[in-house]
Amino acid sequence: MKQSIIAKPDNLCYFCAKYGNLEKHHCLHGTANRKLADEDGLFVWLCHNCHMQLHDKGIGDKGLQIVAEKAWMSYYGKTEEDFIKRYGKNYILE
Ligand SMILES: [Zn+2]
Ligand SMILES: [Zn+2]
Repeated sequence: MKQSIIAKPDNLCYFCAKYGNLEKHHCLHGTANRKLADEDGLFVWLCHNCHMQLHDKGIGDKGLQIVAEKAWMSYYGKTEEDFIKRYGKNYILE
């Protein structure tokens, strides 16, 4: 499986840095984008608590979308236009 391209500490929750059982969170939502995010390494590892808060209350969701788009452009050497072509929108300007 491809590694995440988003910088993060190993084996720690991306948000709270808690150590333990982590869950994979795809930074971009929707069936198509989730699959692309998996291929491109746009995911982070979260503890159960932070993951639930993100999905239930949207805590950190927007920030992660922006982090993912910027990481994608810098890692692959692409522009915002390229990102829109692949993911259908520009999360930074949303
Ligand atoms: Zn956490
Ligand atoms: Zn998730």
